[in-house]
Amino acid sequence: MHTFSEIPTLALRGCLKCPKCHRSLSGSSSKGKNKHFTYYHCTSACGIRYRSEKVNEDFTIELLAYLPRNGYEEIFIETISDAYHNQVGSILDERKAYSAQIRECNKKIERARDLLLDNALDAVDFRTIKVEGNEKIVILESKLAELNTKNKAVLNIKPIAERAINNLTNLDLFYENSSVEGKRYLISCLFPEKMEYNGDRYRTPQVNEIAQHIYLKNKELEAKKMGRKSSEKTSSHWGG
Ligand SMILES: [Zn+2]
Repeated sequence: MHTFSEIPTLALRGCLKCPKCHRSLSGSSSKGKNKHFTYYHCTSACGIRYRSEKVNEDFTIELLAYLPRNGYEEIFIETISDAYHNQVGSILDERKAYSAQIRECNKKIERARDLLLDNALDAVDFRTIKVEGNEKIVILESKLAELNTKNKAVLNIKPIAERAINNLTNLDLFYENSSVEGKRYLISCLFPEKMEYNGDRYRTPQVNEIAQHIYLKNKELEAKKMGRKSSEKTSSHWGG
């Protein structure tokens, strides 16, 4: 016998939000003549109630939008790697900027020392310039050290992306064959916030970063396919 929370057709219980009043949707089972029917329903009196089969089916469709399309694995690996390298690239740029600023400070102190030696600057002014310059350098160097620690974590992203994409490609099958607990875990990884379901479609407020990249790439591939295949009428459907 299943305990309430383990009813497989109610795996999404607690992961969904009511589209009307935004409370958490619960699930329950009611007995018909010959079989049990299961529903997701709102915990308030707002009246929202959906048959669980439809909700679950729509979720499997929604899930597909976040999974890399079969046959396009290479493209997805590139997308993930590029996104990562952009992030790393900005760290490298920042590092260059700090190094340049440190060089500037050192030059300024050098110039002041030259002026001091030429008797064009008195010792007190030189000291002020030197102390201020050194203070700036200390701050910049600590920022640089911080960046270097971040940079040490730079990964060879490609094999990791490959593994992730190959695993994700089969995630829908994996989801279907998972226990209720496994399903919930997967959902919480992909969609850290509760999803809103309105009887037909899902709205996902927050999505795992990799899944979000995949989603956008899927849209792009879809748009390309539609554009290639068809007349203006269908492509306008995609906003292109
Ligand atoms: Zn409600």
